[in-house]
Amino acid sequence: MAFESLTDKLQDAFKGLRSKGTLTEDDVKAALKEVKMALLEADVNFKVVKQFVSSVQERAVGEEVLNGLNPAQMVVKIVNEEMTKLMGSETTELMLQDSKYITVIMMCGLQGAGKTTTAAKLAGKLKGKRKPLLVACDIYRPAAIDQLEVNAKKQEVDFFSMGTDVSSVKIAKSAMDYAKEHGHNVVILDTAGRLQIDEAMMKELRDIKDAVTVHHTLLVVDAMTGQEAVNVAEQFNEKVGINGIILSKMDGDSRGGAALSTKAVTGKPILFVGMGEKLSDLEQFYPDRMASRILGMGDVLSLIDKAVEANAERDAEKDREMVSKMKKGKIDFEMYLESMKQMRNMGGLASIMGMLPGMGKISDDQLPDEKQLARIEAIVLSMTPEERRNPKLMSPQRKFRIAKGSGNDIADVNRFIKQFEQMQKMMKQMPGLMGGKRGFGKFG
Ligand code: GDP
Repeated sequence: MAFESLTDKLQDAFKGLRSKGTLTEDDVKAALKEVKMALLEADVNFKVVKQFVSSVQERAVGEEVLNGLNPAQMVVKIVNEEMTKLMGSETTELMLQDSKYITVIMMCGLQGAGKTTTAAKLAGKLKGKRKPLLVACDIYRPAAIDQLEVNAKKQEVDFFSMGTDVSSVKIAKSAMDYAKEHGHNVVILDTAGRLQIDEAMMKELRDIKDAVTVHHTLLVVDAMTGQEAVNVAEQFNEKVGINGIILSKMDGDSRGGAALSTKAVTGKPILFVGMGEKLSDLEQFYPDRMASRILGMGDVLSLIDKAVEANAERDAEKDREMVSKMKKGKIDFEMYLESMKQMRNMGGLASIMGMLPGMGKISDDQLPDEKQLARIEAIVLSMTPEERRNPKLMSPQRKFRIAKGSGNDIADVNRFIKQFEQMQKMMKQMPGLMGGKRGFGKFG
């Protein structure tokens, strides 16, 4: 796991503080000395460490902190905030031009950094919003061209190559013409890497930039190489000019040096992090979440993101189950309740409608009445679980009890049950209406 050793050492430093009731300036200084050692061992740039520790110290030895209710916690909070600042404070999004225009992204980096893989990962990420074209500009390694083509296929995005006999500048220009003709609005150029930085590589990148309008020059650096990654970033920035950095291989046992120093040294933000070899393993970089993770405070927000994803999967499973029942005309009140709950989880009817394409401008009075929906929900909730699963049980006595329990008139209950029965009948006819068993092909 990345940062393990750094996290352990930082936690040790804070444990010392927590064990003391009140703190003196010397206590804080001693703890920060440990923090400094931990950061240096994690391969964080020396100047960055010095600056970082002095900023924390300045804030942490103030009277407010030392005389506060929980000084140790305040120190940790300051370290967390300064660390977030170090990595850029704000999350930097990759800005795309209006979809009418082509956004050009040039990927660069040393050989083996993960450039080709990341280009394909990025294309996959953008596929939902734009029509990307992956362009092979590495004319020195035929294997890199093949690798990009294979990955483009996997990601189901278009690929452009002119082999190895044409200059990368010519390829980039031709790719722009191809993109215009075929309606691509993002062009991702995968350029050649070398084992070390050399002038020829830098010139080639500059030549591409002179020939086509590049909106983003993104540098891919291997997080496992620590300060070396930072040196590489500095040089690329100086010689070619970069807009942002992608840290690859953050799933490995990176010590943290690259993540913590790159922004501070180069002034360029980290946009994404590579979290594995799979083409889906590219994540947005959040400085605050990364700081919490490094400090061993967990990354609650990312966990929530994951929980939301998991929940979406669970719902998909439930949806399938529901559709399969619907296909057989077997709907019950339980399913009715479940679909209302799902709707509410997504922010309610109005908010779901607002998210649908073309529905944004719908006015409130055009929406079904939420109060009415709540009344219906109350009716279903007043049924016993058995009644919900078996609508046939509905006798006049039961309807009367349900009306009373839900605060409705018996006429309301009757109306709802009648509507429900009509829906049930319609569902039963549905497979026939929609082409028999295959009618629900997409879902079933
Ligand atoms: P390039 O020479 O810069 O184009 O590098 P490649 O894209 O060919 O990647 C070099 C190696 O690193 C390949 O084996 C990739 O699968 C691997 N790689 C790339 N990104 C990641 C990552 O985020 N995590 C891990 N574990 N491996 C990665």
